[in-house]
Amino acid sequence: MLDQCGMCKNQKALVESHLIPKSIYKIIVEKSISRSPVSIKGGKFVKTSNQVKAYFLCSCCEAKLSKYGEDHVLRYTYRDAGKFKFQETLEGIKPEFEMDSALVFSGSKIPKIKISHFVHFAAGVFWKASAGKWKFLGKQLANNQLGKKYENQFREFLLGSSQFPEKAVLTMSVSNEKEPFSIAIFPNYCKHDGYFQHRFYIPGIEFILWVGNIVPKDLKNISISHSAGGAFFYECLDNSPLVKEAKGFLKKNVRKLRKVTKSA
Ligand SMILES: [Zn+2]
Repeated sequence: MLDQCGMCKNQKALVESHLIPKSIYKIIVEKSISRSPVSIKGGKFVKTSNQVKAYFLCSCCEAKLSKYGEDHVLRYTYRDAGKFKFQETLEGIKPEFEMDSALVFSGSKIPKIKISHFVHFAAGVFWKASAGKWKFLGKQLANNQLGKKYENQFREFLLGSSQFPEKAVLTMSVSNEKEPFSIAIFPNYCKHDGYFQHRFYIPGIEFILWVGNIVPKDLKNISISHSAGGAFFYECLDNSPLVKEAKGFLKKNVRKLRKVTKSA
């Protein structure tokens, strides 16, 4: 399939891309990106056999996303049977400080963890969700959440031709729970005064991207995108609004979920 690659913009043979790497989840939750409370009812569940995929990138760009982000990050997500490499890696390491109910670690002091890969990975998922056209159970997911300007800045960052967008900050929270929520939640966003907050979750790790003119200033010091130390949070993600909402939704729709997963 010869077409323009979404990332490098060259005419190339396109390969099948996944919005969220298929290996990391069994169930994904779509909470419609429109944010209307009604949309939660319209959310659907699906087994891994129904991936969110599209012909969107050339194989070079796909390889770039793997090499500079995905490959590394996927080794650290929560797996079933209590395997969570990120948590194991933190054992015996002293946090920098405590903030509310979270511990803050400095990623650059943990030799095994490559923070820049977490940044590239998360930027890739947020950008793909916005720039691509993705379908989920026959329904088109809303795109362009980042807006054209930021979409382009993120594209250039992913290609390695520019720095992380100046008016965006990326924070990361790693779950300290024994059994983190083991589903993936697609990117969605909400608007605050002067900035947007985009979030997505993969088993054990939540990423939040703050974009706009009035992003809280102190955030940069505890972000993986701007702090020199690659600071991230270690906390109970049960408190995350995104996870809380998805859990509530699953609970309410457990019967529907069984039905869909059975037929998938
Ligand atoms: Zn390309």
